[in-house]
Amino acid sequence: MTPFEALLVTKTEDGPKPEWTNLTQDDLMDGDVTVRVTHSTVNYKDGLAVTGKGPVIRRYPMVPGIDFAGTVATSAHAAFQPGDGVLLNGWGVGETHFGGYAGYARVPGDWLLPIPSAFTAQDTMAIGTAGYTAMLCVLALETHGVKPDSGPVLVTGAAGGVGSVAIALLSRLGYTVAASSGRAETADYLKSLGAAQILPRAEFSGPARPIAKERWAAAIDVAGSHTLANVLAQTMYGGTVAACGLAQGMDLPASVAPFILRGVTLAGIDSVMAPMQKRKEAWRRLAQDLDMTKLSAMTETHPMRAVVDLAPLILEGKIRGRIVLTAP
Ligand code: NDP
Repeated sequence: MTPFEALLVTKTEDGPKPEWTNLTQDDLMDGDVTVRVTHSTVNYKDGLAVTGKGPVIRRYPMVPGIDFAGTVATSAHAAFQPGDGVLLNGWGVGETHFGGYAGYARVPGDWLLPIPSAFTAQDTMAIGTAGYTAMLCVLALETHGVKPDSGPVLVTGAAGGVGSVAIALLSRLGYTVAASSGRAETADYLKSLGAAQILPRAEFSGPARPIAKERWAAAIDVAGSHTLANVLAQTMYGGTVAACGLAQGMDLPASVAPFILRGVTLAGIDSVMAPMQKRKEAWRRLAQDLDMTKLSAMTETHPMRAVVDLAPLILEGKIRGRIVLTAP
């Protein structure tokens, strides 16, 4: 068996420790499809897993990486043949099942999607869980009847991965997008993605009043905590807020006033265990509605070995947009 490089996180007395090592296919976990990984990415959750700053890894040792794309090497699954291009987001990969930061991954074929014809493997990892989650958020707003003429849509954590893709999608669909960011220097970047208005993060990060002036027809929130409470309080009558993240905190110090006085909907978004039908729809819509020039403009590419250095940066909010990792 030819060895391949993999990032293995082991539990030590000093906490979780990431180290590049050589594995063989015998070391991989159960599954009916083995994939030669060509690309992966760094999401916020990957930052937590690699640094050990959040309880993402629930089984040690673990190969982190919640997303990967590549080519089927061997398959006992009816839907996949050797040579097929496939992608994976979530399903506990990189948490309880060896993930994408390796030359090969083995998973149940039911977790895989064929790479859509509109995309390369690199494109799918530029999108990654962050971009696929942004699409799930947009789908949730649509399901709740939010339309481009409903009014402005706020995106928090705008310069991050979910935020950047959400702005590009919403503006392409004709929405007026307001972007909230803690990084004033990203204003031109956010405008180039389609934001019509830029607001400082600080406007949303303090304790919220139960209800405030109506400003947003809808919102996509990646921050949680006070930010989400403020966004809810400012959402217009009948509006919808898609909540997917905890960049500020996991708490929600809010009141029920927006729900019972304005009929606001809080739509929870989970990408990890989303059913296959929803994933297929999200990837179909990404192929249809994501401006590929904007995707390239928000994406940097690094060799996979750089992930150990990039992981703390994403947690510090220092990564702009999206990162693609190319496999060793
Ligand atoms: P990024 O790190 O790329 O983006 C997060 C952004 O949030 C930062 O760039 C920053 O944007 C903003 N931010 C950072 N700290 C704070 C803070 N204290 N208060 C308010 N905003 C802050 O991460 P991702 O885009 O990959 O993920 C965003 C969030 O969504 C994470 O919490 C992640 O765990 C979650 N997530 C959830 C998923 C799900 O299935 N529910 C799937 C994917 C992600 P700026 O500098 O512009 O202010």
